Amino acid sequence: MKLLGRVLSVASECVPLMKTGGLADVVGALPAALALQGWEMRVLMPAYRALRPRLAGWKEVWREEGLWGGEGVVYAGEVAGIQMLLLDAPHLYDRDGGPYGGVSGDWSDNAQRFAALSWVAARIAREGLSDGWSPDILHVHDWQAGFAPAYLAFGGSGGVGSVMTIHNIAFQGWAPASMLGELRLPVDEFHPAVLEYYGGLSSLKAGLVTADRVTTVSPTYAAELMRPDFGMGMQGVIAERAAVVSGILNGVDTGVWDPSSETVPYSTASMKGKAANRAALCDEFGLQVPGPLAIVVSRLTDQKGIDLMAAVIPDFIDAGGGLVVLGSGDPALENAMRGLAARYPGRVGLRIGYDESLSHRLFAGGDAVLVPSRFEPCGLTQMYGLRYGTLPVVAAVGGLADTVIHANPAAISAGVATGITFHPTDAVAFGTALRQLVALYGDKAVWARVQKNAMKQDVGWAASAAAYAGLYAELKG
Ligand code: ADP
Repeated sequence: MKLLGRVLSVASECVPLMKTGGLADVVGALPAALALQGWEMRVLMPAYRALRPRLAGWKEVWREEGLWGGEGVVYAGEVAGIQMLLLDAPHLYDRDGGPYGGVSGDWSDNAQRFAALSWVAARIAREGLSDGWSPDILHVHDWQAGFAPAYLAFGGSGGVGSVMTIHNIAFQGWAPASMLGELRLPVDEFHPAVLEYYGGLSSLKAGLVTADRVTTVSPTYAAELMRPDFGMGMQGVIAERAAVVSGILNGVDTGVWDPSSETVPYSTASMKGKAANRAALCDEFGLQVPGPLAIVVSRLTDQKGIDLMAAVIPDFIDAGGGLVVLGSGDPALENAMRGLAARYPGRVGLRIGYDESLSHRLFAGGDAVLVPSRFEPCGLTQMYGLRYGTLPVVAAVGGLADTVIHANPAAISAGVATGITFHPTDAVAFGTALRQLVALYGDKAVWARVQKNAMKQDVGWAASAAAYAGLYAELKG
């Protein structure tokens, strides 16, 4: 494969090193997918406490004094086939807790911590690393890296193109205007067209107005973001840049998410294994479910519509359904799930926590995956559901609308249906969708057809990687 160019990808999370959400999956998956398109990608991320032991033996490729109160050193090494660049700045990242906060909430210096990551990214983009590697494209993800295209633009891009990807508009990297100088931003750019955001600063906005291209993780979310009900204050900024905004769907790792490598393997050619996985899952949670067994694998938050479950699940259970929930999040929603599990022993199973291996057993054994999100930039679990023949029942928003085709009679007879969608995201529409699920499950022949169709969908990375490669090529010229 001919090398078409080099990309510096910048993010606060990357599988397998650090993950709190889908962002990490995407950042970790892009390098291999882009390599197949001829683009060499390195990923720059902070060296959080848990990652520092790995740095022994890695090569120093960048060193910088005065990085918001201390020195920063970038080390290059390989993790799971990914060319990683870890920014070691102990005064900013060597702490107990997660990437954004500790036991008492978010770190108070998050603006400086991620400005530092962005600063180093922009300088590496412009000047190259000491091992001779220098990128053609700077590709940054979400607010944590949002200042990077701004620093690059303000300091002179040196011909390096920049792309900013929004994974979730809800997180905007807000900081007070008084930090302008401390964040090394030019005072004369502090006006609404560039840096000013409702009287303060937003690293996300800074990236959105200065990057050469803006992408988000589904075409529907790209359109939604220009509307006040989804844009979360950023709608005007994005609409202003509409000419360079596009939606590129995420893929999933079809090597990791593969029904033929689950406890009891199955495939479209033989679905028997799925029944065995279902039986094992029911045993594990002590369930007996005559109708469809639904699963939820999710952060338990209002964004994900988990608050609607308490209203719709009782009727679903009465109609023969069952449910297994795996997730953690908002304590009130965790309690609501505990309430359902306590009320319906033998029908509702619950695991509060994060468990990758259990999530595989759920997708392999479940009949349907519920994703009643209020907004969903792309969403991954509905795609696992497609691949596993665990039919997605989703709110028709963002990437959910782009990946699931509703099983209405016309779509079923045309052979294109892959799941159930509903709109709007409320208990009435969700309840209707669950009644449709029960009816569909009751018609075994149709169910099997929709299931096969779902499993045939291409949810891998190839198409997305080709779209990113197209953008990079445009910018490299
Ligand atoms: P978001 O990034 O908004 O949380 P996505 O659907 O894009 O939502 O990605 C969530 C990812 O995290 C998926 O890979 C999903 O399977 C995984 N996940 C979420 N909660 C859990 C959990 N409790 N245990 C295991 N995996 C989980």
